[in-house]
Amino acid sequence: MPKRGLIGVDLGGSVVAAGLVTPDGDVLAQAQDPTHTRGPGTAVATVLDVIERMHQTARAFGVTVEGIGIGVPGTVDAERGVIGRDIHYVPELAGAPLAATVAAATGIPVYVDNDVNVLALGEGMFGAGQGALFLVVLAIGTGVGGGIIQDGRLVRGQGGFGGELGHVPINFDGRACICGGQGCLKTYVSGTDIALMGTERLKRNVSAADVFRMADEGNPTCRDLVTEVCRALGAGLAVIVNGHNPERLIVTGGVAESLKPLELRIHTQLQRYAFERALDSTRIEIVPQSKQSTVRGGAALVQYETERRRVPIQ
Ligand SMILES: [Zn+2]
Repeated sequence: MPKRGLIGVDLGGSVVAAGLVTPDGDVLAQAQDPTHTRGPGTAVATVLDVIERMHQTARAFGVTVEGIGIGVPGTVDAERGVIGRDIHYVPELAGAPLAATVAAATGIPVYVDNDVNVLALGEGMFGAGQGALFLVVLAIGTGVGGGIIQDGRLVRGQGGFGGELGHVPINFDGRACICGGQGCLKTYVSGTDIALMGTERLKRNVSAADVFRMADEGNPTCRDLVTEVCRALGAGLAVIVNGHNPERLIVTGGVAESLKPLELRIHTQLQRYAFERALDSTRIEIVPQSKQSTVRGGAALVQYETERRRVPIQ
């Protein structure tokens, strides 16, 4: 059993997951709770509780926890560990100094970043992006987020919006988006929006998974909708391929499992929009997401930040 460990936390709109992770990315134990299990506005209490459970596990294993990394669904001032105003899925955390709060409660260094930045670090360090110097991760779930790692550095942007690839407009007269914009990639491919469009068109409540399954079974309305999803995703991925031309592009998130069988169709759409040679030189992969990859990302964030903040020896 390794003696050093890290705690990775994925703070989502519906679930908070935490994991005790080794420096090599092995997940030794996991815990999770509904985000608002103690009532509205109690996300921080849930975070502290799942961290405490992982701490107890660490003590039982004889593992010393050296840092805590937390991913949140919004923009973050990663230097200070303060959450931005654009956190639509856990609104009570807008402006919250989460890193300082958790560090005060635990006495351990804490780092906070956007959840898909964290996921990208995890995939780059331990997962499907291992070995790539220029990696882009697009996570399609309840919302759509992105993470960009170039020359081994996370591209956070000047105001923390670096990698907000779910909110690139792909239709200038398009659907209204949660971000206040319109026609964003997110409004055509997120699980929430696929379910919403399916529900509107079928005139009964369906989930995104229902839409993909019914399309597969030959339902014409769902087939049309899935064709639109492939086309929208082709356009969105072309923004990444043409705009960044990364070495590797990983599509993951809760919807990735439904997208995996459509890989060829999505690629055909991509060919309509992307430079041929940009597309040829970018390796694209659809990788279904597990809870392990998100908590492992938190551990990767701790190691990335520890390294980045180390004062160089003169
Ligand atoms: Zn948007």
